[in-house]
Amino acid sequence: MRNEQAADLLFAQSRPGCRAVRMPECDVPAEAVESLLPRSALAERPPDLPELTEPDVVRHFVNLSAQNMSVDGNFYPLGSCTMKYNPKRNEALASVEGLAGLHPYQRSETIQGMLALLHALQEMLAEIAGLDAVSLQPAAGAHGEMTALFVAAAFLRDTGQHRDVVLIPDGAHGTNPASAAMAGFRTLEVKSSAAGLVDLGDLAAKLDARTAVFMITNPNTLGLFDRQIGQIAEMVHAAGGLVYLDGANMNAILGIARPGDFGADLMHFNPHKTFSGPHGGGGPGAGPIAVAGKLAPYLPAPLVAKRGDCYTLDFDRPKSIGRVRSFFGNTGVLVRTYCYLRTHGAEGLRRVAENAVLNANYLLSRVKDCLPVPHGDRCMHEFVASAQRLKAERGVTAMDVAKRLLDYGFHAPTVYFPLIVREALMIEPTETEAKATLDSFAAALQRIVAEDAGLLHDAPHTTAVCRPDEVHAARQPILKWTAPAR
Ligand SMILES: *Cc1c(COP(=O)(O)O)cnc(C)c1O
Repeated sequence: MRNEQAADLLFAQSRPGCRAVRMPECDVPAEAVESLLPRSALAERPPDLPELTEPDVVRHFVNLSAQNMSVDGNFYPLGSCTMKYNPKRNEALASVEGLAGLHPYQRSETIQGMLALLHALQEMLAEIAGLDAVSLQPAAGAHGEMTALFVAAAFLRDTGQHRDVVLIPDGAHGTNPASAAMAGFRTLEVKSSAAGLVDLGDLAAKLDARTAVFMITNPNTLGLFDRQIGQIAEMVHAAGGLVYLDGANMNAILGIARPGDFGADLMHFNPHKTFSGPHGGGGPGAGPIAVAGKLAPYLPAPLVAKRGDCYTLDFDRPKSIGRVRSFFGNTGVLVRTYCYLRTHGAEGLRRVAENAVLNANYLLSRVKDCLPVPHGDRCMHEFVASAQRLKAERGVTAMDVAKRLLDYGFHAPTVYFPLIVREALMIEPTETEAKATLDSFAAALQRIVAEDAGLLHDAPHTTAVCRPDEVHAARQPILKWTAPAR
């Protein structure tokens, strides 16, 4: 439902004299501010703040929140982002006073519960990764990538190897080359084969004595598991490089395949994707990394260690790259991850992956009749459909289809990613959706592709905002409210 009033900024809704809070009567002698502060510290006039009642403020924010789509309100098949349902139980547990109320400067004797939890989480993530050591510090997947590449750089430096190139497949997420560049490496792109997997010939041609790391996402961004991974890892290792696994797609292989077992030396997790943490407006998030034993000495300090029956923070790590985040990382997110893992257990995690893959394949089988899926009849946890034929025949783009889905009450899939598929719509249903939801999404897509092109170009028709100029909004955001002339 549209609510025009809610779209006004609070400043524009201001009515002089309105108040949300009333202070108690002052019970000490009141002093004029001029007698307390020097003249130069005084503003010429009061700040231009909105004056509103409490219901004004509550309605404003509640109505604004309802204008957005969310996992709690809508099916949200945003490919690569794993928008599964966030169990409210984990929210409740993360806000237990004994966890949420801790101060990071407390002595470790007084936070044994939190340290035990973080230690257990390190061990569970190491087990899922099939790797030896874990750092919980990084604050997002991309931050985990960068941290892990700093670890790789420290290892190479320490072992006297001059390797400065990171190889990245052309289907990779944009954070991969960005992280490699930030960690001081040069990047080289490796082509995909027609089947959407790593082109082994191209990889072989680009591996040499300068190769530091090969970054691979597996399953990849087309939703395909690259079965050549064993051979790929052998090739990279034979050339003296390290294999980095971008773990954004771990939801497809949890409890089934472990990156360490198929050749990865280091990886990150995205708890907000795989482990149901909320994807909250850019943060806070977490991006724990797991590494093989030979890389463990370089992990950020401190790690949580167990000595006898006590948990401590281990700062005595002379080869560590240092801190990448204050204190122990974003513990609120890590507590939710711990709750999620303990709730499912080893067997349950495997079922998560199996159901995620089952849901994606079911939806693929329903969608491919109206939108071709160029890379096959089977997928892992997501698949990439293409609106290229629709565009050629009727001028309807992936963006048109995505925008029109909003009118049907569905969040749009990821569009125009990965870059190797034209007019891409990347669809990831996740395991927390019922068959009925997948059926109604497929039915909506069937109807949309048959709709009038003009109607689709102007979609969405029922949302508060239609098609904002995204480039303009990103390049010239209006962050300051100016009072209209009175
Ligand atoms: C989401 C994602 C990332 C980056 O993770 P963030 O937590 O968003 O920083 C990296 N690679 C892939 C394939 C992703 O889907």
